[in-house]
Amino acid sequence: MTKRPFLGVVKPRLYYNVVPDEVEELPAPKKVTLLLKNGRNGGVADAVKVGDSVKTGQRLGVSAGSSEYVISSITGTISGVAPYVGVFGQVFTAITIDAGGQDTWDDGFSKEASLDVAQRFLEYIPGCPPFAVFSDTGKTIRSIVINGMDQDLSLTVNQCVVQNEAENLKRGVQILKKITGLDRVIMVVPENLVQQASTTGAEVKRVGNRYPESLPRMIMKNVLGQVVSAGETIEEAGTVFFSAEAVAAIGKAFESGQLPVSKMLTVAGKDGKTKNVKVRIGSSLGDVLRSCQTVTHDRDRLILGGPMTGLATYSEDLPVGPDTDGIVVQGEADSAQVTDYPCINCGECVRVCPVKIPVNMLVRFLEARLYEDANQLYDLNCCVECGLCSYVCTSRIPVLHYIKLGKYELSLIETSEAVNG
Ligand code: SF4
Ligand code: SF4
Repeated sequence: MTKRPFLGVVKPRLYYNVVPDEVEELPAPKKVTLLLKNGRNGGVADAVKVGDSVKTGQRLGVSAGSSEYVISSITGTISGVAPYVGVFGQVFTAITIDAGGQDTWDDGFSKEASLDVAQRFLEYIPGCPPFAVFSDTGKTIRSIVINGMDQDLSLTVNQCVVQNEAENLKRGVQILKKITGLDRVIMVVPENLVQQASTTGAEVKRVGNRYPESLPRMIMKNVLGQVVSAGETIEEAGTVFFSAEAVAAIGKAFESGQLPVSKMLTVAGKDGKTKNVKVRIGSSLGDVLRSCQTVTHDRDRLILGGPMTGLATYSEDLPVGPDTDGIVVQGEADSAQVTDYPCINCGECVRVCPVKIPVNMLVRFLEARLYEDANQLYDLNCCVECGLCSYVCTSRIPVLHYIKLGKYELSLIETSEAVNG
């Protein structure tokens, strides 16, 4: 349910969908493409070659100088290894695999519950569990939060997992405690899923259903009562977030000995109807949409993620990643148009911002590419990336996109400063 502001008097009231859709498992595709992040030294998938046979669940991408990898989601033959440039210029190697019949499962994954095994095999399963943070010596993690609520409007992936996969979640919670040695595991769910969550062995807390209450920094403040200070990450504050889907996938991996290779996502069509599907990671967006009988036309907008925080994409050939929670198709008439009009200082964005950022000033610095000043003077890194400022902007400035680019550029600057001293 949505109320748009009228002359700046009423703040928009946006609510999550808290009724999980049914899940349909789609057949395995004829081809998948897996995007392997390149190592910082430019190292690419030198151990992966066209013509290699691969099995389902096989770890690919072992390359000198890089700990990045992908997990093959089908059995078949590698038909392409090519560079791919993603959002904000991030460089990947696109590994294309042609299916070769029935799944043959790779046996490289061992069920030994250790951090080493988790880091080597589980970071590319659905939900991308962030195990790397546990070996970062600059961060001391004291608690794990499992987010059983979805991060954007229309999406119901994590809620669907909490509703239907209590046993996998319970096993995942046990494994997480064992691997990390942490006892404090909290699951955050909407009111209607408290009963299911309470069977998982995690401490259960409720989160409201008004957007953007389920975003991690909002949960830290409103549900856990801990304010993450400006310039500090949630991990630096001692907490790490896992999605419910990631924890259920961990539980499933250790139960079956096979790495989960199918991702659940919500598909929202132009008519606003939503549907949850399970697809092999690496399936093309086009394959998913065709299977859902969702037809796209010229000038439709295809959004990866949710309507508030997702990124529009230009091609149906792009693959579903292990972190893709949704595909939204918007017709031309329903797509919010963006402009390069200047900010008119109306203040709508400032009034709506849940963390009180002076967005009208921040956007000026971001447009001028003054990222460090944007952070020091106007709290760039405090932004929870809810997209409400873009939603209400009178000038239709794509504020959230400026913010995401600004954070990415700032991280590059900070990494470069750390490396070069
Ligand atoms: S996206 Fe915009 S409204 Fe949301 S927290 Fe960031 S600056 Fe504030
Ligand atoms: S960025 Fe948009 S909403 Fe914010 S003050 Fe400028 S015109 Fe208004």
